[in-house]
Amino acid sequence: PITPIADGSNMSLDSAAATAAIFLEDIHMRFGNVHALSGADLTIQPREVVALIGPSGSGKSTLLRTVNLLAPLTSGRVTIGGTTLSDVPEGGKQQIKMTEKEINKHRARVGMVFQHFNLFPHLTAIQNVVLGPTTVQQTPPAEAKERGAVLLEKFGLGDKLDVSPRHLSGGQKQRVAIARALAMKPEVMLFDEVTAALDPEMVGEVITIMRQLATEDLTMVVATHEMDFALEVADRVVFMDEGRIVETGPARDVLLHPQQARTQAFLTRLN
Ligand code: ADP
Ligand code: MG
Repeated sequence: PITPIADGSNMSLDSAAATAAIFLEDIHMRFGNVHALSGADLTIQPREVVALIGPSGSGKSTLLRTVNLLAPLTSGRVTIGGTTLSDVPEGGKQQIKMTEKEINKHRARVGMVFQHFNLFPHLTAIQNVVLGPTTVQQTPPAEAKERGAVLLEKFGLGDKLDVSPRHLSGGQKQRVAIARALAMKPEVMLFDEVTAALDPEMVGEVITIMRQLATEDLTMVVATHEMDFALEVADRVVFMDEGRIVETGPARDVLLHPQQARTQAFLTRLN
């Protein structure tokens, strides 16, 4: 059945879902009494760079985790690159339409980088980067290592390949974490406050990489408090509050001329 999509565009639901990089429909996520997401709809086109902003607790991390299937939904539908990965009717049970192996294959199409790096502490930088491709994607180790080295060099870490994370600065660790996610050749990259835990002098080196990635053939969703980054790099800004998407539009419109009172209040508080 063809149903109109929630934003009122006349494109049919199914063709919109089929062509989008990320298509989220009516996502609800409850943790006990907490409604972390209360009916989020979001369509992200291939190669779009989207900044996700909003107060702490507004649901940004939960939304990103939904895209990556790290968290089972309470209800809603997640379609990535035309494949519906999760479809849970209201009050219903998760309908898994594919095997765990297939889910993992699709999950590899989405890379995620977190605030706290989550590098494997007992592995070197290059081993961290090579692990996913060699274990999940069966890339031959020599090829994975060569590709991983290219990525680390691109991020200014050519001399850190064999260094353990404990000998790297926060900014360097985060660059390794980004390289590790990219090594899986994802179509979509999700960044969750990747500069929030860094010392101020290291924020720039990570932002530089993300600015560079934004010019490549990658779809990016970036939860961030860096409004300068959002303004300069994002095609679109999505403002969330209390588990809902309150306002979305071109970065300059939302950040400089917000329409909704809650967006205005949030941006005013930051200044
Ligand atoms: P943000 O990333 O915008 O700060 P989150 O997505 O982390 O927001 O959180 C949204 C809401 O959901 C918050 O109220 C948070 O406390 C709650 N929440 C998130 N994850 C969990 C969880 N695993 N268990 C319980 N509550 C959670
Ligand atoms: Mg968060």
